[in-house]
Amino acid sequence: MRGQRSLLLGPARLCLRLLLLLGYRRRCPPLLRGLVQRWRYGKVCLRSLLYNSFGGSDTAVDAAFEPVYWLVDNVIRWFGVGRNDIATVSICKKCIYPKPARTHHCSICNRCVLKMDHHCPWLNNCVGHYNHRYFFSFCFFMTLGCVYCSYGSWDLFREAYAAIEKMKQLDKNKLQAVANQTYHQTPPPTFSFRERMTHKSLVYLWFLCSSVALALGALTVWHAVLISRGETSIERHINKKERRRLQAKGRVFRNPYNYGCLDNWKVFLGVDTGRHWLTRVLLPSSHLPHGNGMSWEPPPWVTAHSASVMAV
Ligand SMILES: [Zn+2]
Ligand SMILES: [Zn+2]
Repeated sequence: MRGQRSLLLGPARLCLRLLLLLGYRRRCPPLLRGLVQRWRYGKVCLRSLLYNSFGGSDTAVDAAFEPVYWLVDNVIRWFGVGRNDIATVSICKKCIYPKPARTHHCSICNRCVLKMDHHCPWLNNCVGHYNHRYFFSFCFFMTLGCVYCSYGSWDLFREAYAAIEKMKQLDKNKLQAVANQTYHQTPPPTFSFRERMTHKSLVYLWFLCSSVALALGALTVWHAVLISRGETSIERHINKKERRRLQAKGRVFRNPYNYGCLDNWKVFLGVDTGRHWLTRVLLPSSHLPHGNGMSWEPPPWVTAHSASVMAV
């Protein structure tokens, strides 16, 4: 196959070189000269796309597919599919479909996810607009449960640990005694099998509980920080990059989805009134999040609050 290709490419290259040579010496007709010029121009364009020092292969693919995106976007609108007033920021290269703000494509789920935070391997699902609150509540209450269990069973753990140490010592003493004396039969064990297993299980459970409390606690704290800032895990990277870029230009970056720490939490948890802290946060609730995940207007009370602050 490679041999056949080189057989075809060889003469083609030779012809082009001849044409270029002719073009240089101006012995060819204007039509040929025009062809040669177009070929050179095309080559420069292609090289600038592929070997641009400011971009990689992604930039080249983006630039090459730009007409396709434009066409698909217009054809979709023409047929009335997905015709709405939602402002889209880009087009997903994988789904070939307009992508609203804060939406990202998940390569594992193979679809676009509204306000995507991350793909959770433990849940085997994406954490996004509609399940972000459930994810955070799960992490938070699970951490509280583990801390409660670890703290509550601290005395039990210490007793079990001491018993295991005692078991080890007794076994050691017994082995020494057996080595010095002669028995006609094996001496009975100091602790029964059930007692040994109970103590070991208690120690294992305490370590498991504490490890989960630490790991999940760290994850919960990290997500709490992100929610307070009004950004997702993905947006944190994007915003960080943008902040640095604007800082270099002497400008300040402002996150448009940050309404202030308390308001961010209220929007995230869906708290509209004071009573909701009990009914929607502490107690299990199936209420939907603010907005549809496509457009990002803040709730009216946030806008009113901001307006009053502005007026002051
Ligand atoms: Zn997509
Ligand atoms: Zn996913």
